[in-house]
Amino acid sequence: MKKQKQKTQEKTPINQEIVKNLRRHNSDLPFTKKQIASIIAEYPTPFHIYDEDGIRQNARRLNAAFSWANFRNHFAVKACPNPSIVRILVEEGNGVDCSSLPELLIAEALGIPGNRIMFTSNDTPPEEFKKAMQLGAIINLDDITHIQFLEKHAGIPEIICFRYNPGKLRKTLDGNVIGSPEDAKYGLTKTQLFEGYRIMRDKGVKRFGLHTMIASNELDYRAFIETARMLFDLVLEISEKLNIKFEFVNLGGGIGIPYRPEQKAVDLDAMSAGIHEEFKKMLQGNGMGHIKIFMENGRMMTGPFGYLITTAIHEKHTYKEYIGVDANMANLMRPGMYGAYHHITVLGKEGRPRDHMYDVVGSLCENNDKFAKDRYLPKINVGDVLAIHNAGAHGHAMGFNYNGKLRSAELLMKDNDAIKMIRRAETVQDYFATLDFNGSRFAGLAKDKKHAKFNRGKNG
Ligand SMILES: *Cc1c(COP(=O)(O)O)cnc(C)c1O
Repeated sequence: MKKQKQKTQEKTPINQEIVKNLRRHNSDLPFTKKQIASIIAEYPTPFHIYDEDGIRQNARRLNAAFSWANFRNHFAVKACPNPSIVRILVEEGNGVDCSSLPELLIAEALGIPGNRIMFTSNDTPPEEFKKAMQLGAIINLDDITHIQFLEKHAGIPEIICFRYNPGKLRKTLDGNVIGSPEDAKYGLTKTQLFEGYRIMRDKGVKRFGLHTMIASNELDYRAFIETARMLFDLVLEISEKLNIKFEFVNLGGGIGIPYRPEQKAVDLDAMSAGIHEEFKKMLQGNGMGHIKIFMENGRMMTGPFGYLITTAIHEKHTYKEYIGVDANMANLMRPGMYGAYHHITVLGKEGRPRDHMYDVVGSLCENNDKFAKDRYLPKINVGDVLAIHNAGAHGHAMGFNYNGKLRSAELLMKDNDAIKMIRRAETVQDYFATLDFNGSRFAGLAKDKKHAKFNRGKNG
């Protein structure tokens, strides 16, 4: 029954647009099968590989789109928290958006000046506010009660930003509510926002920013224009009511990427043009043309330029056709966690018909450890190398150790195609390193002989 259904699916007329995009998806790999084979000879799969040139060109495209503005993207470090990657973006004019102590430490290690670090946290522990203050980062408060908390633990900074959550006030031009920000734990209500700026003004703060982050993986550029309009409107209202001056408006991140072949990338120029219109009308027209435009995209900055490279190590034919690869959910959690689509290319088989339906699976004892379900791919043989696309954001970053799985290496493909390992793969020693076993380190760390003895146990 199921088989028949698949057959009819295959026979549905081919959408030429999808075919075109599929071709793009297949051919936009920054490396050849041969190159990857020589990389694998040195660095075994699985690994993540990032395309430096792609990251740079893309960052330049975003900056160019906003050339009319005093614009800066603050790369959301959580997307790809590897200092070698963050540095590339910093070299391209990005600041950083950090939300934890280790992310702040990455910014510090890279010598990023405080005025280029946004600290956007929630449920924040005291030491993180302290570190952010010490670095002179722009602190973006998530709640009105954090004013007191910040003052108590770190003091009042000279510049402050608040994160706005519009709740049900979030509307499009034609009055439709977008998404459901009222379900999100982040940000202040409108009433709290006014109160927050008033309190900070009265505490002597002179420099202000306004922030929101309500889009995620959004592919419709108009959503960002709506966000800009909403924030510009608030800036006007707050400036007037409280007599304070805003230095920047941070539209948040959330620019989506076309994970699926039939999707299109966000039209950055159209987005920017629309925001420019609102800027001219609302801010410039009211003597606020000096206000900087910030964004804090993570996904779109690195996502499309990272690939998870993995080798097919098993094929299995039961009720379905399975390809078992040497990567698993610990290397890329999005498909298992959200059912997210990640395009897959079988290297060297780009031109072959996608006429075999597979579940591409990892080795975790979780049935959702599948990189693809019911996916049409060229016939895969054991030993074939697969590139899983769009793994450059929230890929390695979301790694975990459940089931004793180890995080993979990260490689950087430099502008001249040279390969640099920017993070080694975890070893079992790393996995055991934090254990305290009978008052000392776990015996699994010992040399092979002792290790074997331990495994056998006393009665071994
Ligand atoms: C995750 C996050 C971002 C980045 O979102 P992307 O979808 O990766 O662009 C920006 N700001 C905040 C506060 C975030 O939590």
